[in-house]
Amino acid sequence: MPFRRTRGILTGSEKADPAIEADVIMTAAVAGFTAGRFLDNQPVRFDINPAEQAEWGSFERVIKKLNAAVEPYVRARGTKDSSIKADYAPKFDPDHRGVIMGVYQLAGHTTPAKLTEPVLTEKGRALYDRIRQDQTPQYVGVGAYTGFVDNPNTEGNTDPVGPRSTARFLIPDAAADGSQESPVHRWLPSTNSPVWHARLRRGTQSDYVPWGVLGGESAAKEPDPDSKLPRAANRADQMTAIIESQGMAYVGKPLTREDIVGYTHGMIQAVYKAYSLGPACVPYEIAVGDRTTKLASCFPCTMFITSLGYPPSSSHLGRGESWAPLYQPHNPGARHEPNESAVIRDLNTAWAAACGVWLQYGIGVLAQAKVAKSHAGAVEDLYNFVETRRNDPTVGATLILDALTIHQKESTRIDQTLENP
Ligand SMILES: [Zn+2]
Repeated sequence: MPFRRTRGILTGSEKADPAIEADVIMTAAVAGFTAGRFLDNQPVRFDINPAEQAEWGSFERVIKKLNAAVEPYVRARGTKDSSIKADYAPKFDPDHRGVIMGVYQLAGHTTPAKLTEPVLTEKGRALYDRIRQDQTPQYVGVGAYTGFVDNPNTEGNTDPVGPRSTARFLIPDAAADGSQESPVHRWLPSTNSPVWHARLRRGTQSDYVPWGVLGGESAAKEPDPDSKLPRAANRADQMTAIIESQGMAYVGKPLTREDIVGYTHGMIQAVYKAYSLGPACVPYEIAVGDRTTKLASCFPCTMFITSLGYPPSSSHLGRGESWAPLYQPHNPGARHEPNESAVIRDLNTAWAAACGVWLQYGIGVLAQAKVAKSHAGAVEDLYNFVETRRNDPTVGATLILDALTIHQKESTRIDQTLENP
């Protein structure tokens, strides 16, 4: 089964606009996730980067729109408290060190009052300090978070895990969870899709930056002339070189226009490892480098770890560009657990199932919400796409991953999809 080669994410229509479809899919995902948490009697809070105080007003407007859309849906289903909290994420700077923590509620863990200095085992503390002081090989560029697992086990493997930086992988031609059986495989835009225009390398006739690559939409631009930066023929390839020079691992090269790449964040790499090692182990994401300002988990990581029972200590509606789960064990310089491939398969299956439920809720929310005229057609296309594939448990997760390959802040997508109440 080949990648889904259509003009839009949802249809092959001449009029399909993948950016609008991605707005609608991710708005449904956020609204549906929110509804799902309220229906489970769990609170919902989204945080903004403390470095973006000037954007507080527009963030509040987005939360208001989201509240107005979700509230009637969950109230009609018997939920009383359904007000989304909006706040600033804990700040990260050299004086305010800190972590994002996956809180394993199923194992009785709770969120500590202070996340600046997590309580760790002795071996965990030693590794944590080395990661914090950047004495381990890791990605330190924009939005650098390193996955880390503290391991209090007293038998078997008792080593903490880390650093686990965001890494780039080739995405299998399969459904979101990696399964070949699903009839809906990942979307690779057809060659007539409007999304390719910005990915044509400057000065070439048919040389495109592959789908998913961060910054790929700046291939037509000149590179930054700053002599300290790597040289390249265009801005997109320059960004690829910059990110690699900042320590991100690229697994699987070279790339063609027939490939898709995805980026697996440290937080979820830590969750796969914590799960493999046992319920006492705690996954963290440690902010590193000097270009990271907030201690909050991106929305796709939030969905992933919440679906597995580890909701994050803070979560934002910024970017999760070309986010992807793991499809194979990834253990740079470290040991491989015998059960890892099975854990990856099981966690991906559980996450995909949760995404399916959340997207269904979100479609229900959008059906009764005030949707912008420009986006109403895509809401209908989303409904039809999912409805005709009702028996496929991976379709929700696959559409979410497809939408994340259109790079945008989740808050902007929601703002563009929903009208003011
Ligand atoms: Zn993330």
